[in-house]
Amino acid sequence: MESLKDDCLFCKIIQGKIPCKKVYENETVFAFLDINPIAVGHTLVIPKYHAAQCHEVPEDYMAGIGKALSVVAKAVGAKNYNILQNNGSIAHQAVFHVHFHIIPKDAKQGLGIQWPATNPSGDELEKTAEEIKSRI
Ligand SMILES: [Zn+2]
Repeated sequence: MESLKDDCLFCKIIQGKIPCKKVYENETVFAFLDINPIAVGHTLVIPKYHAAQCHEVPEDYMAGIGKALSVVAKAVGAKNYNILQNNGSIAHQAVFHVHFHIIPKDAKQGLGIQWPATNPSGDELEKTAEEIKSRI
C-alpha cells in the first residue's frame, strides 16, 4: 500500500510482516491487541495510512477510525473504558503511527489519569475559541 511506510512498526503489522493478535480490519482501519496491555482487552485501532499525528491523517481515514472505534469498543465488551490517543512524545506518544487505545477500566486495571484543570475567564475562553475558529 502506498500510504504505508517500510520502516514503521505499525505499517509492518498492517502488512502482516510482523505478527499481531488482529481483532478487526476493513478498507481503512486495522485493530489488534496491545502487546503490553494495561488491562485485559486493551486494543489498538489504527488507520491504514502512515501518519505520526491525528491532524496528518486524511479525513476519510479518520471517519473510518470513528466507525471502527464504535465497532471494536462494543466487541471489547467492557462496561467502563477509556479511549486514548496521544500526539507527540511530550504527549506520551511512543509509536509514531497514529493509534487509538481502547482500554477497559475497572477497580484493578486500566488507565490512570492526571487532569490538571485550570480556570480561565470567559474572555480568555472566547479569545481561544476565536483563534481556533479563524484557522478552520
Ligand atoms: Zn506507519
